[in-house]
Amino acid sequence: MSYIVVYNKDKCTSAAKCMGIHPELWSEDADGKAILIDGKLNAASRRYERVIEDSELEAYKQSALICPSYVIDIVEPASKKSILNINPTKEDEKDKVPVIQASYDSNAEWRMDPKGFFTMKPFPEEGVIRVRYYGEDHALKVVVEGKNAEDIYNTIVREGFVSSLAHAAYVGSELMKVEIALKKRLAYVQDDPLPE
Ligand code: SF4
Repeated sequence: MSYIVVYNKDKCTSAAKCMGIHPELWSEDADGKAILIDGKLNAASRRYERVIEDSELEAYKQSALICPSYVIDIVEPASKKSILNINPTKEDEKDKVPVIQASYDSNAEWRMDPKGFFTMKPFPEEGVIRVRYYGEDHALKVVVEGKNAEDIYNTIVREGFVSSLAHAAYVGSELMKVEIALKKRLAYVQDDPLPE
């Protein structure tokens, strides 16, 4: 079975997500917009199109679903209907959804992750971040070393060093602070705000 990838380059916001995960399918123009490799411009619709086969579908689907601007679609050739099964909210309807005021009561809600805990620190001279992972017995188990937050928190999740969503979110947000401290050579103290 074949499908058509339909790409609206006019609306691309240069977020680079598509080419980040699939550089073999997307390249970048001088303005940072994505180019659908081997895509042909449909002059009537002003969309770039490329016919793909089943074997290519998964990679293009991933590109489409990661695009924050919903400018990549995949349609069936006969019906021209999208196969993505998503229903993005239109821009002018986004103010109609409920707003929840965020809050956190650490006394009532904080739970120790049974998998353990982490300490982390930037090492600007070496250009790396090191995260120490301690198990529930408080013994140091392993050091995770990386150059950015994304590599490190994905490694921590992949290795199964966290078991709660709240703890994973904490590690991700704290690692972003470490990455900023590393790049800007700021003093970093875990759980404290970064210096202005
Ligand atoms: S992810 Fe979407 S918005 Fe970002 S570059 Fe690719 S097509 Fe453009």
